[in-house]
Amino acid sequence: MKFSLPAIAAVFFGTLTLSACGGGTPRPRLAPPPNPTLAIVRANLWDGTGRPVVANAVTLVRAGRIVCAGAAGECRIPAGARIINGHNQWLIPGLIDSHVHLLFLTRGSAGEELSLDLRNLLAQGVTTVRDMGTSPAELLTRVNALTATPRVYAMQLVAGRRFFFNGFRGTRTSRGTVYRQPPAMAMQALGWTPMLYTPNDDADSVVEAARQTGAIGLKLYAQLDRESVRKLTEAAHRAGMSVWGHAWVQPASALEQALAGQDGLVHAAGMAGELLSPEERDTLVNDGNLQMATAEVATVGSVHDPRILAALDSMALRGTVFEPTLDATRQSVAYYNAKRRRIPSEQEEYVRAASGFGIEITREAVRRGVRISAGSDHVAYGPAIERASLFGELRLLVDSVALTPRAALLAATRDAAKALGGEPARRLGTIEAGRYADLVMLSKNPLEDIDNLDTVEWIMKGGRIWRPGQLRSGIASR
Ligand SMILES: [Zn+2]
Repeated sequence: MKFSLPAIAAVFFGTLTLSACGGGTPRPRLAPPPNPTLAIVRANLWDGTGRPVVANAVTLVRAGRIVCAGAAGECRIPAGARIINGHNQWLIPGLIDSHVHLLFLTRGSAGEELSLDLRNLLAQGVTTVRDMGTSPAELLTRVNALTATPRVYAMQLVAGRRFFFNGFRGTRTSRGTVYRQPPAMAMQALGWTPMLYTPNDDADSVVEAARQTGAIGLKLYAQLDRESVRKLTEAAHRAGMSVWGHAWVQPASALEQALAGQDGLVHAAGMAGELLSPEERDTLVNDGNLQMATAEVATVGSVHDPRILAALDSMALRGTVFEPTLDATRQSVAYYNAKRRRIPSEQEEYVRAASGFGIEITREAVRRGVRISAGSDHVAYGPAIERASLFGELRLLVDSVALTPRAALLAATRDAAKALGGEPARRLGTIEAGRYADLVMLSKNPLEDIDNLDTVEWIMKGGRIWRPGQLRSGIASR
């Protein structure tokens, strides 16, 4: 059966009003139960599966799930279904930002600020985020108390011994001696809960402890050798969990991480680690050292070094997903451009080197067939305009890396869901029967211009509809 146009015109967004118009004396009778199905009709449907846009589509939603999505003839609208008219609009899967950091206890993003940030993400059409390591248990507890949020999945940070125990020691640099604390201390001060793994530890116990926090996988952070990466990856996979890591985790290189079977690598700039010897990688104990080493070797030309190309080819071969996080670097460059220091800090030198290198690495990765997931490295504090965003990441993937808008969208829908693995991979990322009803309706075509992602009419998460204005009321947004 095809849907009837009068029905579409009659009901728009509101609850279906049932009127008894029998004529004569009204006879009291029980109203039929309202049909719990919602039918989104007449929209242009881009379902994220890879099939072309379906014009004049019908998408049926019931109990938070998609029941049917396709051409008008493919999905039969049950009588009494609530109808939403999507004429001249574009229906796409809810967007997934596969790299965010939401909890910063000392910077205020735990209470109201966290709630506002999540509302703002949802208003941008981001219906799922993956927190790449803060404190899974603490974060998930706080998120569960909120209503208007994307789905939040969390990863458990894991790092090696020197991340925790390198002591307050002086490091000689070209600019004098710098005293530093173990990186784990700075992280713990934010309220984050990295876990320690040493080669003598039982990897299965670490994975089990991570699972207990509610995490869906491990994020390998630093100070892990090749053997440790392999053991943690195998243990996590035995438990059905994913393993992601910084492109490189000192001393293990990105190539070694890919060979160990890791599911994904983050931060394009980290591929600079391939240009260092194992000994050099092994001696870089803290962020400052890492950044200086990167700033020295990361040039646009060095991207084509055979060691980097070998790592990218290995990732392509094994299906290791790459998450370049370009928007965070762009934001940092903008920050330093505004500051205009005469003598750049280590951090500034790093950021400037990482920017051009990261974009060129991502181009080369795409050319070589590496799968991309769009993660922004968004953080939930600071002025909203200075936070990296999925929208910014997708724009860079199109404008600087030269992905088509379609390919960029896949990196934030279907491919991002696969990158998360587990339940998200089965339930998110595409508009197909059985998936969660996480949808975004746009007034303009995002396949024509990725900037049209900025034309959100409404967002649906698990069958519930939100308007951007409703979510943003009271928040300063970009
Ligand atoms: Zn991150």
